[in-house]
Amino acid sequence: MPEKKELLNTTSKTTKQDPSVKDCEAIYAGIGASRGICIGECYSFVREMCQHEIRELDDNNISEEIERFLSALQRSENELKKIEQVTIKKLGKGYSNLFEAQIMMLHDPVLIEAISGRIQSERKPAHLVIEEEFDHYLEKFINSDNQMFQERADDLHDIKNRIIRNLQIRKLHSWIPEGVIVASDNLSSADIILLSRSNVKGFITDSGGKTSHIALICRSLNIPIVVGLGNISQKVSTGMQMIIDGSTGTVITNPDEKTLASYLKKNEEAIKNEADSSLTAALPATTKCGIRITFYANIDFKEELQTLVATGAEGVGLFRSENLFTEGTKVPRESEQYAYYLEMAEAITPMPLDIRLFDIGGDKLIYSPVKEPNPNLGWRGIRILIDLPEILDAQLRAAIRANIHGNIDILIPMIISVDEIRLVRAIIDKHYEELAAEADSQLEKPGVGAMIEVPAAVELIDEITRCVDFISIGTNDLTQYTLAVDRNNVIVQDLFEKFHPAIIRQLHRVITSANKNRCKAMICGDMGSDPLALPFLLGCGLRKFSVVVSDIAKLKSLVSRYSIAETEVLAQKCITLGTSTEVKACLEAFQAAH
Ligand code: PEP
Ligand code: MG
Repeated sequence: MPEKKELLNTTSKTTKQDPSVKDCEAIYAGIGASRGICIGECYSFVREMCQHEIRELDDNNISEEIERFLSALQRSENELKKIEQVTIKKLGKGYSNLFEAQIMMLHDPVLIEAISGRIQSERKPAHLVIEEEFDHYLEKFINSDNQMFQERADDLHDIKNRIIRNLQIRKLHSWIPEGVIVASDNLSSADIILLSRSNVKGFITDSGGKTSHIALICRSLNIPIVVGLGNISQKVSTGMQMIIDGSTGTVITNPDEKTLASYLKKNEEAIKNEADSSLTAALPATTKCGIRITFYANIDFKEELQTLVATGAEGVGLFRSENLFTEGTKVPRESEQYAYYLEMAEAITPMPLDIRLFDIGGDKLIYSPVKEPNPNLGWRGIRILIDLPEILDAQLRAAIRANIHGNIDILIPMIISVDEIRLVRAIIDKHYEELAAEADSQLEKPGVGAMIEVPAAVELIDEITRCVDFISIGTNDLTQYTLAVDRNNVIVQDLFEKFHPAIIRQLHRVITSANKNRCKAMICGDMGSDPLALPFLLGCGLRKFSVVVSDIAKLKSLVSRYSIAETEVLAQKCITLGTSTEVKACLEAFQAAH
């Protein structure tokens, strides 16, 4: 997180002391975007700058220059296809869409026409025209208020550099020493995939956010990454010793002996805990007093189902279906969705699959053609779906048609009123009746759940839990909206406190109400993955968690340390506390005693 006063005159995000003092330990705070600690040598990854001649073209070499541009496009496509193959091998098909989208861009007739036309009319060399054309879009992306556009700028940057490099038939530089920590100003998805072949221990970058593609890829590859570190790439150098902690977003350069020893110990404990917990992952989780706790997975792509059972997940508690939008804006057709949902439901039946309706808009996927002044408070989630019934109808129909095993439920995002729930329910009923009458095989009506992620939904929790089959608490947005702290804004990250008493009391209230009204309650926000929060949530009466798959084994093994009676006492105590510091201290003391 940047020192706020620094924002006024510098981009430096340094804390503790001036890291330019050679060999002194320095600590930097960024955004932890993929968990894990790593200790090792830094490798400063700097993209080679190609030297191109700047000259006006004459009549004889204009067509030669256009040919050179078209060949560069072809070579770039060949490279991307290879990267796509590596991605499929390492991560399955889900992420390879990223490169498909980049390849499609290389075929964009408007772009090709614009660049070729300008080479011809302005007699400028290809690299200059490519640079100018791409920079025009890049500027728009970078200056966009929308986080997703800002993050996708890295991909656009990557395509530009790739084409320019390929004008000179230069080979891609991607082999680096084995086992280093890579530092760079920015990295593209392709860089991460290619560099990871050299067993990179971790990555640090100046730019990027928690939801950027590079963050998601690192999480899937299980490689720690800290992003948003300001200008760290200018402060570190190859060979420098460093520690990175992808959970806290901390980077320490030239660690002194004491720091090194403490992180080595932390790392050892983490590895040991992981090994211990992977043994218990396959077993059902029960508390010390024998209460069964269920862990589901939060997933973004169907390919993640391949490892579902091995990680100990007992179903999918949150499928973020908005990931089916290609290039961020193209609505998937009903038939595509049907095939996708059916494949997922069949792969995990009889385990449940909770499909969250497209949570588009806000800072996630751009749908609105209008530039919203405050997108997180704007046209997002269920609001868009109600206004654009053709999208909602297609998604509901696809989910109902795919529910032949009866294991699909529908989760509605951004609920602020019971009217929204009633409306979606009525539409589901209408489609179900039609589809069930036409279907060859028996179709089950999906259960309906509401995301509790806006304070209004907490206020209405009694009414909401009486009109849904289940609720799922989205603490990421609930924290954002309750504390009025943008979840993606690094400037106010220190205020994004999940243990804020307001959040703690809301969670207690929501879970208590759901249990009273016999409505199933689940948590699917990041707080559900936090070991410190676990006993509190159990004490509130929560029995279902949906978390990132890599956290399931660890959480399952922790559950057996607690008995419900003692967690209930803890929860009662927590809701009386008035500050985050007190809540955290109380939870830490409880954790230490177990
Ligand atoms: C949340 O808001 O906590 C949540 C799980 O949904 P998302 O992170 O996709 O907004
Ligand atoms: Mg949310």
